[in-house]
Amino acid sequence: MKRYDSLRWILLAAGVIAILGLTSMNVYSLYELHESTIQVDRQPKKLQVAEFADKVRYRFFKPFWGLSSTNMERLKSRFSQDNQFTTAIHKRVKQAATDSIFKDIYFIPSSLDGCGQGESILKYDPEKEKLVWNDSYPAAVCDGMGIARTQMKALVKDYKYNNKVIFDTNRSVTLAFIDPSEHTIFGYLTMPLDQEYLKNDFLPSALNKHFGKSQQAGVNVWLRDWTNDNIIASSDPGVPYDHDKIQFKQRFPDFFDNWKLEVSFTNTPTIEASNSSLLKNLIVLGAAVLLLLGSLVFMFMSAQKERALAERQAGFLANVTHELKTPLAVMQAAGENLSDGRVKDQTRLKNYGTHIYNEAVRLRRMIEKLLDVAKADAGQSLIEPQPVNLDQLVQSYIDEQKSYIKSRGFALDVAIENDIPKAMVDIDSFETILGNLVENALKYSNEERYLGVSLEADDDNITLKVEDHGVGMPKKVISHIFDKFYRAEDTLTAQTKGHGLGLSIVKSLVELNGGSIRVSSEVGKGSIFTVTFPTLVNSPVEESQASAVDSSAMRSPSLTP
Ligand code: ADP
Repeated sequence: MKRYDSLRWILLAAGVIAILGLTSMNVYSLYELHESTIQVDRQPKKLQVAEFADKVRYRFFKPFWGLSSTNMERLKSRFSQDNQFTTAIHKRVKQAATDSIFKDIYFIPSSLDGCGQGESILKYDPEKEKLVWNDSYPAAVCDGMGIARTQMKALVKDYKYNNKVIFDTNRSVTLAFIDPSEHTIFGYLTMPLDQEYLKNDFLPSALNKHFGKSQQAGVNVWLRDWTNDNIIASSDPGVPYDHDKIQFKQRFPDFFDNWKLEVSFTNTPTIEASNSSLLKNLIVLGAAVLLLLGSLVFMFMSAQKERALAERQAGFLANVTHELKTPLAVMQAAGENLSDGRVKDQTRLKNYGTHIYNEAVRLRRMIEKLLDVAKADAGQSLIEPQPVNLDQLVQSYIDEQKSYIKSRGFALDVAIENDIPKAMVDIDSFETILGNLVENALKYSNEERYLGVSLEADDDNITLKVEDHGVGMPKKVISHIFDKFYRAEDTLTAQTKGHGLGLSIVKSLVELNGGSIRVSSEVGKGSIFTVTFPTLVNSPVEESQASAVDSSAMRSPSLTP
């Protein structure tokens, strides 16, 4: 049996690990499923945000759509005549001049070196509907043109188209006219952006129009200037910006480099449903795991308990067989010696008689204990509760055992209250209970020999206490003493004879008689066993039954041989 012990523990550990492993795999898959539901739900919204960025970008190209079909030769020759555009280009510039995004429109032919204070460049005059020379313009014009010139220098050698749009962040847009056949730049049309209109009008309304209220859209989008850390516009102005809740960011590549679209997703019905199904699954899984682990551990522990009980039972049987045989052998030998008539000496005859008597008493006590076990095991069927005066039972027990207890050097302290009410208890059971508790108190005491027996009552209960100042017990032992066949592996216990049955019998009998038992004990100081029975609520029938009980009829539990 013992050699399977570690195997059993290994199997239990393997079972627990398997359950936990399976559970974590399940939890992981549930989370993955939940995550992918969220991703599937959010993917279209991410695309919508990217689409918005593109839409805004193309909005700046709008006035110049179709420019690629323009004949550069014609443009160059027209411009060389009177510094004006061809009709086709003029039409687009005129259209751009009415667009609120652009503040003004300037043209700097590439033949012109300078752009800056005092230098004249061309500006489109919407009233005159032509380009006119101008020498007072904002610095942003030259900055935009400068950026475009630097970029085009690197590009122009391999560039195949006749125009390119270049952004100076949110300040200006420059359209470079290119002659791809000659790989030269004709000039730069620079349009400073109307910042106020962009920030206060164009972007807020574009955002709002594209996404709408967050509840329907499933997203909140903020346009944030991350260089200055301020919010320029948002899709739903009712929802405040919270940096910690941002889940996705979209840049405006190549045109608004210092602005970003920052997005937080709101839960849609699909995500809500997935959330609640995840929660339900986790609860069910958790409960199932607890149940599985609980039953596994419970089954393991009860198997361990039963195994320990079986081991103790086997030990008990071996013991009992031995203890039944020993007195029989002594009696047999003494009887033989007496029966063949060879022993004549009075003293020896008396000795043989005493041997036979003592061994018979030992045998009787053994058999009585076995009967008690049988009785406790049989349960209610062998119990005959009746209204009894427990004070009389305790008193007559003490009267019988007093001299024996004292002869063993014990100080006896008996305190029985007056007017103890009756209790509904089986007399035999009570004797066994009291007898076993006193027997233990005597057995498990060594230096300080003290036995206290008290009986007291309140309105509801009658309480019997058996106290000793003996070896006491640690907590670990206390939790087992009422188990069948349990004996503490203490040196004194090992020296004392016993089978670990007394207290299990006591507990069963106390409970069969409707009472309860508890123990308080301290190692080296002693123990107090407290047994409580409910008082009998007197009724005429119970009274008459009670008077029929003669307490002197009780079998006094014998401590003495
Ligand atoms: P047994 O006395 O035959 O061993 P019991 O069931 O009566 O069996 O007691 C079980 C164990 O409880 C004892 O072996 C002993 O270790 C402990 N025990 C019982 N009563 C006392 C007591 N009064 N003081 C200390 N230990 C006790």
